[in-house]
Amino acid sequence: MHGESDGDALFFSRDLKVDGDMSVVVALRNAMDGVGEDLLRDVFSLPEPFRHLFNRAGGIANRCLDRIIDPFLKKTTRLAEHLAAMQAEIDILQQKASLKEAASVSDSPVFATADHLKNTPDVATTPKQAIELLAPAGTPAALRAAVDAGADAVYLGFRDETNARNYPGLNFSRDDLKAGLEYAHERGRRVHVAINTYAAAGHMDSWYKAIDTAAELGADALIMADMGLLSYASQHYPDLSRHLSVQAGASTPAAIQFYYEMFGINRMVLPRMFTLDEIAVLKEKAPIEIETFIFGSLSPMSEGRCALSAYATGRSPNLCGVCSPAEHVRYKNQDGVLVSQLGDFMINRFNEGESAGYPTLCKGRYIPEGGEASYLFEKPECLNAAEYIASLRAAGVTSFKIEGRQRSRFYTTEVVSCFRALLDAEASGKSVESMPDVLNRLRKLAEGGEETRGAYRKGWR
Ligand code: SF4
Repeated sequence: MHGESDGDALFFSRDLKVDGDMSVVVALRNAMDGVGEDLLRDVFSLPEPFRHLFNRAGGIANRCLDRIIDPFLKKTTRLAEHLAAMQAEIDILQQKASLKEAASVSDSPVFATADHLKNTPDVATTPKQAIELLAPAGTPAALRAAVDAGADAVYLGFRDETNARNYPGLNFSRDDLKAGLEYAHERGRRVHVAINTYAAAGHMDSWYKAIDTAAELGADALIMADMGLLSYASQHYPDLSRHLSVQAGASTPAAIQFYYEMFGINRMVLPRMFTLDEIAVLKEKAPIEIETFIFGSLSPMSEGRCALSAYATGRSPNLCGVCSPAEHVRYKNQDGVLVSQLGDFMINRFNEGESAGYPTLCKGRYIPEGGEASYLFEKPECLNAAEYIASLRAAGVTSFKIEGRQRSRFYTTEVVSCFRALLDAEASGKSVESMPDVLNRLRKLAEGGEETRGAYRKGWR
């Protein structure tokens, strides 16, 4: 390995130059991200009792810092939060009133109430902010960074194939989740656990165990796609919120209605394929929360149905929780040109000075017959819908999700604090355009240095 990394080498690799095995690079990058206990656990694996003692010392140090520094640093933030929470409660009361009104006059068959849904949690479960800011937490360190930067909630997964970001060095053990829940709950934030891959026939235990563990430790919501798992969770833990993952590929009101009636989902994570108008129509018919992506990488509009990674490597996000697994990734220098490879497939060639992204098949540059090399499916761009915050609020969105559990703690802090500032400003009546500095900071974080508005205003379909 040679060259420079910005500390976020894996998926934000404009400066990365690597020859050889990416799985080592990935594990190192992710381990280093959580400098402290993550680094020691993942890289050096201290023997007991030193590891235990180190973890204890780290925990005590963290608590001391919280007690001494937090009261000073967070005084003003808390005041703003209280005001925002009051506004949120007013919004929720208004929302509940209009939902009741709509339910009493609607003759639409969509989202008709079923008896078994009486046990499902209230739709509007008192979010802290009018619109929830939901941040990725790939590691315990990223969880703390997201909470400290102002996220209302974080989402995460266990260290196995039960979640769609099953990468080396990422994710949470049972103890990590316990500590993460404590950290978030002490600060009034929520934790959503993604168990969003499809369980393997004959090997269901890991998935059931993941649901049981999340419920037992007090997670605030489960993000799921598999109907068998949704059924298990709704029967065993009816009071635990169930969010439908994009991995379910539900993209019509009828499909969402099915999940609502059968499994009592109380939130839909929208695939990144809807326009603003389509979201508004959907929300009108759906008495459930709508979560939508606001920032981060895009898939080419086929969420939960992609088989490209499985074709090239035998492993897919839907079943194994991983797209383009690191052990199949190679970067090579060929006659002075940097080449990226996934398995036996060459994905891209980067000229001097060009950003070298992580090789997924959907973002490769290919040469069609008689044509020139180009991005045939999807350019490696970053969704940035900051300018649509007000429109998405008007369309009825209740949660803004930031993509990127595989990104660094620095990235998480930056994106969350930018959106915290934008959301607070927008909620107090300012336009996001009145904050050019924040918008510029976000632009610098875009994958490959390029950004897109995604499908929200698309005119090509
Ligand atoms: S290949 Fe592309 S579209 Fe398919 S899962 Fe991977 S990132 Fe998503």
